[in-house]
Amino acid sequence: MRIVVLAGGIGGARYLRGLKQAAPEAEITVIGNNGDDIGLFGLRVCPDLDTVMYTLGGGINEDQGWGRRDETFTIKEELAAYGAGPSWFGLGDRDFATHIVRTQMLDAGYPLSAVTEALCARWKPGVRLIPSTDDRLETHVIISDADGRRAIHFQEWWVKMHASVPAEAITPVGADDAKPAPGVLEAIEAADVVLLPPSNPVVSIGTILAVPGIRAAAASKTVVGVSPIIGGAPVRGMADACLTAIGVETSAQAVAAHYGPGLLDGWLVDTVDEGVQVEGITVRARPLYMTDLDATAAIARAALDLAAELA
Ligand code: GDP
Ligand code: CA
Repeated sequence: MRIVVLAGGIGGARYLRGLKQAAPEAEITVIGNNGDDIGLFGLRVCPDLDTVMYTLGGGINEDQGWGRRDETFTIKEELAAYGAGPSWFGLGDRDFATHIVRTQMLDAGYPLSAVTEALCARWKPGVRLIPSTDDRLETHVIISDADGRRAIHFQEWWVKMHASVPAEAITPVGADDAKPAPGVLEAIEAADVVLLPPSNPVVSIGTILAVPGIRAAAASKTVVGVSPIIGGAPVRGMADACLTAIGVETSAQAVAAHYGPGLLDGWLVDTVDEGVQVEGITVRARPLYMTDLDATAAIARAALDLAAELA
């Protein structure tokens, strides 16, 4: 079986771990989110791609859900001693090596998709990980605060401000002109099913779908999604701030309606949201907390079962 997953960072990566257990024989292609990508200290950082790569490759900090385990922060401290910012983005020493290798390869002319493949040769995530695009794509957020109305990088809003200032708009800058990375449309075309993990619907999956061609390719397949919203709140993080910014209510129902029946065929909601109905989409209630690997594999299996029914 061929499975394509459109994944953000932590929620996507954890779900993928369960999917690998649920479908050990499947050929899994992960289309990763580029919206979080940022240039820091002259280096290209791709947080969501790295979270997937480290999580599936056994290098993740399990408690945090991002970054390397057994990490140290000497470089960060030394940069701070020079007054070299930003200091709000956590880059550890081990993690720095990934960004150095990535940046060197990009500077040498390799596209991000080839660089990602090279990085994965070390981590062996057991899936094929492809960025949504090789073109520059970054999510920016429009806010108004004491410094006036301005656009800032998504990471500044998310990591530095903890989304404390409301977003007036969230824009995937560069998406309109971006082309899907090599292999993205081919993988979707060849897929038996496309799965949406419980990733952020706006700044993770929404940004992947903003790359022209990806949404239409996925829509022609059987698509089943898992709600990141349980009982009217995100399980973790501040997805509600992103949904509010685009005028979507923070509920399992509203997120499915936002994806729409043109894209989604099936939608898994948590048992507390049992009874939720979305026009044109088959909804099923299952326990959706990814508390451990077995619970997560059960969620992945439920998505595959629903997809098989709807195919
Ligand atoms: P990020 O890029 O690291 O923010 O990660 P993603 O976009 O992949 O996923 C973030 C989303 O995962 C959040 O909106 C959470 O609500 C959701 N999430 C995290 N843990 C769980 C869980 O155990 N169950 C469900 N259903 N959603 C979860
Ligand atoms: Ca992310």
